[in-house]
Amino acid sequence: MRVYGIFGDPIGHSLSPAMHNAALAALGIEACYHAFRVPPERLKEALFGAEAMGFGGLNLTIPLKEIALEIIPADELAKAIGAVNTVSFDRKIRGHNTDGEGALLSLRNAGVIVRGSKVVLIGAGGAARAIAYTLAREGAEIAIANRNVKRGEELAESIGGSAFGLKDLKMLVPRAEVVINATSVGLREGDPRLFPARLLKRGQVVLDIVYSRETELLKDAADAGALALDGVMMLVYQGAIALEIWTGREAPGDVMEQAVRSSLRECEGKRG
Ligand code: NAP
Repeated sequence: MRVYGIFGDPIGHSLSPAMHNAALAALGIEACYHAFRVPPERLKEALFGAEAMGFGGLNLTIPLKEIALEIIPADELAKAIGAVNTVSFDRKIRGHNTDGEGALLSLRNAGVIVRGSKVVLIGAGGAARAIAYTLAREGAEIAIANRNVKRGEELAESIGGSAFGLKDLKMLVPRAEVVINATSVGLREGDPRLFPARLLKRGQVVLDIVYSRETELLKDAADAGALALDGVMMLVYQGAIALEIWTGREAPGDVMEQAVRSSLRECEGKRG
């Protein structure tokens, strides 16, 4: 039986095993997908160990995505983004990044036309970088707002966008067609808002890539009549693209979405 998996540290929270095991079963592939806690200093051994043991493929999550680039060869997109979230072992070990493509598909499949649209991307961390590269390549006009302005400026420069601080959101949000939160703000209940709800309006699209709860930003967007998209479909599509890289088969997106949403309901049940 082929083994697939995700490496991260911590890793207990990951929804990827439920999502990928459901997909593998639906495709009739005899394989299993496990979560493995791998500390950064053991990543090299773990990656080459997985290759030696004939793993079918891997995902990487925090804090391993950037470190992996120093260890294994990667495709041009992963190198440009500066992070690897998917590893394939077909002939030789290789890193990929499917996060940005996952965000793009979640927008596109919700009917959003990305080319030429005015996007405000909040954040400049790993996920924001992946989204910025992919949407810029797609022809979006991107303004990056980040708490650490220097980090935002570096990202903006590399994609041909513009950089701002979080206080500039007051000016940026009302002018935007698409607002994306790619920070970790909203992960926890009680996190402060990044900007006041009154800045949002009908006709805008708001994607919050946090997938573990309905964030205040998404509630504000829905109240304003904007299209509110959570991070679940980005998670599903980045996983679907990874599965297609590993198996060459079309991934069952609906099965993967159901698995994620039902795991989230289970987690919520345990919390509440
Ligand atoms: P990261 O590399 O650690 O980046 C974190 C980002 O959040 C940085 O821009 C950071 O700003 C900002 N930030 C953190 N705390 C903040 C605060 N209190 N106020 C304002 N900004 C703050 O993390 P990441 O990997 O990009 O992940 C970011 C989020 O995306 C997480 O919630 C993660 O779960 C989610 N995610 C979702 C998917 C999906 O498939 N849906 C995929 C990947 C990640 P500074 O630069 O100023 O520190």
